[in-house]
Amino acid sequence: MARSSASALSTPLSARLPAALLALAAGAFLLWGAGFAGADALHDTAHDARHAMGLPCH
Ligand SMILES: [Zn+2]
Repeated sequence: MARSSASALSTPLSARLPAALLALAAGAFLLWGAGFAGADALHDTAHDARHAMGLPCH
């Protein structure tokens, strides 16, 4: 009886994992996919994102 109310308090990991993977894939595409795209605008966007995340650059 107390089980249903306890499970409603926290989101199960199985429900959060797909969202986390999606964010990870989108971030990886933004950083590396856009970096290799060649277009200056895309490259600048990825470059700014890299600096914003504190990753080593130049
Ligand atoms: Zn840089």
